[in-house]
Amino acid sequence: MAIPRREDGDFIEGIYHWCDRWCERCKMTTRCRQYAMECARDAFNADGSQDGDSIEFMESLICVADSFEAKGIDEELAAAEEDASFSAAEYSDDDDPEEEDEYDMEAYLLERDRIERETATTKCVQLADHYMSEGSRWFDEWDILLSLLDDSDGAVTDATEVVRWYLFQLAVKLRRAINGKLDDEMECREDMLGSAKVVLVGADSSLQAWELLQSRMPEDKADAISPILAVLRQLVVETEAEVPDARDFVRPGLDD
Ligand code: SF4
Repeated sequence: MAIPRREDGDFIEGIYHWCDRWCERCKMTTRCRQYAMECARDAFNADGSQDGDSIEFMESLICVADSFEAKGIDEELAAAEEDASFSAAEYSDDDDPEEEDEYDMEAYLLERDRIERETATTKCVQLADHYMSEGSRWFDEWDILLSLLDDSDGAVTDATEVVRWYLFQLAVKLRRAINGKLDDEMECREDMLGSAKVVLVGADSSLQAWELLQSRMPEDKADAISPILAVLRQLVVETEAEVPDARDFVRPGLDD
């Protein structure tokens, strides 16, 4: 993991909100606070003495500290606070009821239930679930054959990594996007658009990767990929229909 250096400049606010979390392949690691923090944590964990005196740990701390210095500590703390709550929300279906002055727990739970039920019946979400199970089944069946294919150029390994990376992520991100769309009290339309954009970009990459795998499979085995491609293409169509502005959404640092 390359440690972000202090001369690499400021972090881009919110860049990791709508990325695919594939840091090993990300070109924006030097602009990402999340990455810097993870580097610092990893360096600290790798530092057997636990006193944080390793070079990597110190460099990471300097990098994060520079961000505070450059932007002003208040602004940076506010951003970090917002980031922390955003990250927590990404993997939680719960809003924070304590933030409401008068909170009706029963109404809240009913509303969450409605959103979850409607999300689960949305066609693009059902396609994402179907894609996830069909893709997993394909790997169960053909994993051994994959290892026997000609991979002298590394393309099979690359395509396999791409497909595996997005196989489960598409359904998770799409649920988040549709949850946001169905939430009448949704305050952050950007989150819906950004999550749907991650799905579309990941699906595009997955389609290319599946097509590569199909082209390398023996002729009598290649057809097994066709139904998966069909599901994935339909998933893209349905997602674009459900969140029409997602393609045009510009994710900070990733699309601009
Ligand atoms: S923006 Fe890049 S470096 Fe930051 S968390 Fe996302 S993938 Fe990782």
